[in-house]
Amino acid sequence: MRVAIIGGGYVGLVTGACLADLGHNIEIVEIDKKKVDAINSGTPYLFEEGLEALLHNHAGKDLMASSSYDAVAGADISMICVGTPPDASGQADLTFVREASKSIGKALRDATGNPCVVVKSTVPPGTTDGLVRDTVLAESRGGDILFGMNPEFLREGRAIHDFFHPDRIVIGGSEPELFERVANLYRKIDAPVIRTRPAEAELIKYVSNAFLATKISFSNEIGNICKKMGVDVYKVMEGVGLDKRVGREFLNAGVGFGGSCFPKDVMALIRFAERLGEDPTVLKSVMQVNDTQPRRIISLLEERIGTVHGKRIAILGLAFKDNTDDIRDSRAIPVIQMLLERGAAVSAYDPLAMPSMKKIFPMIHYGESPESVLMNADACLVMTEWPEFSRLDHEFDLMNQRVIIEGRRILTTSATEGICW
Ligand code: NAD
Repeated sequence: MRVAIIGGGYVGLVTGACLADLGHNIEIVEIDKKKVDAINSGTPYLFEEGLEALLHNHAGKDLMASSSYDAVAGADISMICVGTPPDASGQADLTFVREASKSIGKALRDATGNPCVVVKSTVPPGTTDGLVRDTVLAESRGGDILFGMNPEFLREGRAIHDFFHPDRIVIGGSEPELFERVANLYRKIDAPVIRTRPAEAELIKYVSNAFLATKISFSNEIGNICKKMGVDVYKVMEGVGLDKRVGREFLNAGVGFGGSCFPKDVMALIRFAERLGEDPTVLKSVMQVNDTQPRRIISLLEERIGTVHGKRIAILGLAFKDNTDDIRDSRAIPVIQMLLERGAAVSAYDPLAMPSMKKIFPMIHYGESPESVLMNADACLVMTEWPEFSRLDHEFDLMNQRVIIEGRRILTTSATEGICW
């Protein structure tokens, strides 16, 4: 099938590269010329395991990129993968979705056949059948266009694996031909396909993320209680998680969730519910617990070493999770901010995310290795669960004193403590 992917960010690039690998012909439409050039030359501009190999095999052949919307007219499916960041109030800002829909509509003015527009971006319920449909039809001046919603559930850092091995494929639509066309895109993938109305597909994405975020905040709250009791929250959650009705995943207590999805999607769902006149107290508490965890790790640090003013604090991990260079909403950001406000000297290391963090905190020191930031440090905070940190041991002897606090449970060395354990 010929597929035009609108937006070549994390989701668009990964989806495009994987669909090319399934045998489809992909053109990524991306307004950022640097990304267009990078895709066409087969250079991944973001880190994702396996992406480089996919680009090597497909870029310039069945995976092309352009800033023009020309490919939309001849595409079997045009898939919207642009960003939906939060606005100042926390609602999903649909500016990019509106702009993309306008451009798709214009490109479909003289199109023949039965074009199909599918939203993959995470959008509030009603967007596909409302803003997207209305905008495309207004610009295309009508026409026989199919509209659908196909939410994305990939995890950054494991996105390629997740694309080929999804738990489910959700297709929201109204017309049988829409379901058939989108299902055909994934016909080589072995996964249950759920057919829903567009608004249900849109909500499935928000509710999935909100539920996973709830499991994390719930575990953090239990972890905070366990810490006071001297009880190991990880043992508790092992026992709880073995109950199939609960499940072990996303019960890891720590410094809270970050990333480009959970915080913004939970907030967007809160704002959406409020617009319906609801007061979503569980969702609000999920955010409240998450906002409190970074303050807790700082308080714990101050309990251990007194004021941090003038002290050297080593930060291990900047990415919002391991295996990615993405720092969007990383919990390291508020932690570093608080340390700087208190007059600490911060020295940070991350295997991938230092270039991105330098743009936010150019004033802190970045080391080339864990050793270089641990040298003469008065304390160390572990903010990302990078597997390579688990091997650290004698490196901590380089510190002035051995005060090691984990925001993620990853170390195996002795004499450490965690934010919740
Ligand atoms: P991103 O910001 O990395 O990428 C969006 C891309 O769209 C950018 O490269 C931008 O230049 C481009 N763009 C913006 N307007 C455009 C236009 N009018 N025409 C063409 N290109 C345009 O965002 P992302 O992380 O890929 O997320 C995209 C969507 O997918 C969001 O709604 C997000 O919530 C959702 N999502 C993200 C993830 C994730 O892990 N990143 C997972 C599931 C769902």
